[in-house]
Amino acid sequence: MIKRSLPTSIVGSLPKPAWLAPPEKLWSPWKLEGEQLLEGKQDALRISLQEQQLAGVDIISDGEQTRQHFVTTFIEHLSGVDFENRKVVRIRNRYDASVPVVVGEVARQKAVFVEDARFLRKQTTQPIKWALPGPMTMVDTLYDAHYKSREKLAWEFAKVLNEEARELQDAGVDIIQFDEPAFNVFFDEVNDWGMAALEKAIEGLQCETAVHICYGYGIQANNDWKKTLGAEWRQYEEIFPKIRNSNIDIISLECHNSNVPLDLIELVRGKKVMVGAIDVASNEIETPEEVADTLRKTLAFVDIENLYPSTNCGMAPLSRTVARGKLSALSAGAEIIRKELAV
Ligand SMILES: [Zn+2]
Repeated sequence: MIKRSLPTSIVGSLPKPAWLAPPEKLWSPWKLEGEQLLEGKQDALRISLQEQQLAGVDIISDGEQTRQHFVTTFIEHLSGVDFENRKVVRIRNRYDASVPVVVGEVARQKAVFVEDARFLRKQTTQPIKWALPGPMTMVDTLYDAHYKSREKLAWEFAKVLNEEARELQDAGVDIIQFDEPAFNVFFDEVNDWGMAALEKAIEGLQCETAVHICYGYGIQANNDWKKTLGAEWRQYEEIFPKIRNSNIDIISLECHNSNVPLDLIELVRGKKVMVGAIDVASNEIETPEEVADTLRKTLAFVDIENLYPSTNCGMAPLSRTVARGKLSALSAGAEIIRKELAV
């Protein structure tokens, strides 16, 4: 499926065109409606595909052009959730947000992204990767007035995610990625039930599966939080043993410009690792050498056939010019290592 060594990919989002939704902000509102919105989203998907191809990215993502937010858009499609009467909760112990409320049994009445995935599949023969929110991160982005148990709610979300994932697989998606930034915060819960819920979400899938665990988008609340984490970010250490023993194929990590001690990656030896070699919290475009340097350092802990160069997180909050520059730097950095090792 993946032809060359060090296959590159982005974690998920790219900035949207300004005619679709104002870029450089989260939860950016759509500028179109009805049929025009549908067409606009498909056009944006085409552009995002072309930008990845021009930059030489190997595994194509949708750039999250058809969703407003990586968690809430999925939840909006479920029944049992009230979006009108919101409540304010603290997200990942970090910042307050007005979120929807779970008021009854959650269920997926219809497919969420399957049509979009079919559309993207038709546009390219390259492998495609599709991101879904992970069950724990979904739980953490809601107020639960029904189950009154984070574990139970996560289990219900895992079931609906599994339904969606199976249909995405059937639509031709090669890798399904679950975004679990909450894994970096609630370690005990990850080990108690978070990982089990994620395994439920990937149950029965034949395609490859990935989990993305980062330190968040480059927004102020996350940047402030990172400052409190000290000189060494050892969060991954708490959860890697559990992930190593799971059925997840690929782990997506934040590495570049972060204080994560890279030797922690040794704890998941044997898994494929999407190494974040692009900082999404900075407008400075990495040089290919800087990207190569991060990849080179991680090679001590990841077998070369398992190294997947990537970004630290999504690029939605960046300008389109900066995001394009970073895509090219990612490819050029991977190419330096391919040449160096003749792989
Ligand atoms: Zn992320």
